[in-house]
Order: sequence, then C-alpha cells, then structure tokens
Amino acid sequence: MSRSIPLQVIHNVSIVKPNGDLTRESVIIKGQDIEKITEKSPGQLFLDHEIELFDGNGHILSPGMIDQHINGALGCDFNQGSLTEVRNTLQQLPTFGITRILPTLITASHPDMLQAIQTIEEVIHLKRPQDTQILGIHLEGPYLNKDYPGAHPVKHIRDRIQLDELESFLSPSLKLMTLCPEKDPQGAIIQLLAEKGIKTLAGHSAATTEEMYHAVDCGLLGATHLFNAVKPFHHRNPGVIGVTLGNPHLYAEIIADGIHVHPESIKMALNAKGMGKTILVSDAMELAGLPQGTSCQFAGQQVTLMDSNQVVNTSGHIAGSSALLGEGVRNLVQWKILPFEHAIQLASQIPAQFLGEHKLGKIAEGCIADLVLWNKDTLTVEATWIEGKQVYTKKTGQQPSEQPA
Ligand SMILES: [Zn+2]
Repeated sequence: MSRSIPLQVIHNVSIVKPNGDLTRESVIIKGQDIEKITEKSPGQLFLDHEIELFDGNGHILSPGMIDQHINGALGCDFNQGSLTEVRNTLQQLPTFGITRILPTLITASHPDMLQAIQTIEEVIHLKRPQDTQILGIHLEGPYLNKDYPGAHPVKHIRDRIQLDELESFLSPSLKLMTLCPEKDPQGAIIQLLAEKGIKTLAGHSAATTEEMYHAVDCGLLGATHLFNAVKPFHHRNPGVIGVTLGNPHLYAEIIADGIHVHPESIKMALNAKGMGKTILVSDAMELAGLPQGTSCQFAGQQVTLMDSNQVVNTSGHIAGSSALLGEGVRNLVQWKILPFEHAIQLASQIPAQFLGEHKLGKIAEGCIADLVLWNKDTLTVEATWIEGKQVYTKKTGQQPSEQPA
C-alpha cells in the first residue's frame, strides 16, 4: 500500500456483507475506495502508516442507500427546484443515510421538463463532495396511461410518444425511464432507449399481459412502484403486476412507507421475486422530512402532509410519500418481514446492481466507500461516508459546507 494517502479505519462495527451476513470486522478506506476488510484489530495494522481511526461503538455498518425513485424531499421538488434548492436537499440527505439518488422528474409540460433536466445536469456538473451524489435522472413520464395518473397532472400526460420530444429528453444523465408499454405497442421506444443504455420500467400503466410480454422481449426490465398507479392484478389478465411477479428476471420497485402498499403485499412480492430483484424506493416528494401539517404545491395541486404521515391532495388522493428510504428499511424490520442486514440490501446493493453500478452498494474490497453507520438499537443513522469522505456524524451534526469543487 502506498504511504502517501492516509488510511481511515472504521473498527468496532458489525458489517453488512454482500451475502447478507453480519460480521465483526474493520473496514480500511484509502482515498475514495474500500481498500480492505479485515478481522485484525487496529493495533495489529499498519504500524508505520498514518491512520485515522473511527470507533463504531459496536453499531452496524452498511453500504450507503441508493434511492432511484425520489421526486423531492426536505422542501425541494426536483421538478421545480432551483440549483440552490436542489443542492440544499442533497446537502441534507446524508443525514438520512442516503448517498446516491436518481432525482425523479414527473410529467409536466415540455419546457418545464427540459428546464428540470437542465437544472439536475447543472447540479451534477457542479458536484460537491459533501453532498448526496446524483447517479443520473429518472424520468417518470410523460408517456403514461391517463387512467392511472397517480399524482401526475393528467393534462400533461401525452396521448402518444412523440419521437422528437423524446429525443429532446435524452440527456447523457438520463438513466431510467418509467413509461406505459401500451403507448409503445411495437416496443421500438423501449428498444431505442435500451440501445442508448437507458433502462425502462413499466408504471402508471394498464398494459395487458401480452403487451408486457412484448415489452419485456424488447428490453423492459420490470415495474415502477409495483402495485401503485397500475391496473390491478387479475388472474385472467395478470398484466404489469402478474408478469413482473412471475418473471424471475424482472425487477420490482416497491414503496415500504406503510401507506402505499400493505405489508402483506410486500411479503408476497418478496416471496415471488426473492431478495435479488426487489428494489426499495421512497417515492418521496418535497414534504418528506418536513413537519406534519406543512402544505405545498405539487404537480399543480395543493397537497398537505397529514398527521397520519400521508401526503394527500385536496381530493384526498395520495400524492407521493413523506417517508425517506431509511423509513422503509426500518418498516421492513419492524413488520418482521426481513432482518435489517437483508432489508438494507434492497435499498443499496439491489438498486446498484439494477443500475449497473458495480462499485456501489456493497462493502467489499475495491468498491467505493459509500457507507452508513446505523445505531444497532434504534436503526437511526450515526454517520455517513461518501466516496471515503465522512460527510455526517450525529455527534457533530452536518459537516460544514465547502466551496463547490
Ligand atoms: Zn409514480
């Protein structure tokens, strides 16, 4: 090992391993990467090296969480936020153990969607090391089914896919697109996106079983927020839900805030898909992390965070979630669906695998040191590292801001 870069050693922790085991080991970080995982105590290591020691007090160290479906949080709607507003949210998200996100932009007018894409691209370009990092953009819409709009403004959902408009959205940062397969009957759009490395999931859809089969043949990879804003399962026409649950190669995003999906349905999805294809997402919107009773404008309508933690619009419909991703992990544990060391994988390792980010989502040698220390009793976040840099500790609060890199 080179002596030029000081090493950080996180010791006295139980580590969540890629196979879902918890082991008592130390993690050695060099620069932004995990250099080594060892059973040796700090006293047995690198006697002639400069090392920084971090005592984990017996808590649990996991990979950083990756939220691939987050519309906003902490007062910022990613569809409308300015560069400063988006950054303010990214600066606070490490406190919640979230190290990477795909800002998820919902259906809006063409100029508004282009503006939102441009803002996110600027934030990516002006990356700050102390912030939660953006892995790319998730475009949710505008090619959805008007019968299953969820919180998307129906007036902006397009009647058909316009190729020139779609091409205007194809920023190099676009990583994932949610669409309804029934608007792409030939599968040509899914194929085109796949050729450009953009992943697609079915959502806000009434696709038939046949339409799903064809979309999957063309490159569709699964379902967005399974069970929500989609034609319900029917045993003679299983559609998006049935095909996603039945095909072992497909991924399912799932919201575990206790409001969007009943815990029994989450169990059913996990039993069908197994650990390897289930991705926990928050579907959080700008009120997530703010006090109950707060209201805002969302997708052109007034929405309020109720005492029940539901976010509802004036007609009483759910309009996104107020729970950030860690809440979903804690719920899976509290509902006795999974132990923590497995639940956390659905929010780190599995989305990383889905997104093709093979150096993320795992505590393993050579992986990027995005790490979260969880209090073993309360399952709240004690400390967060992004690319080897400690960006949050509970004792001292958020690290001071730095100038943009
Ligand atoms: Zn949605």
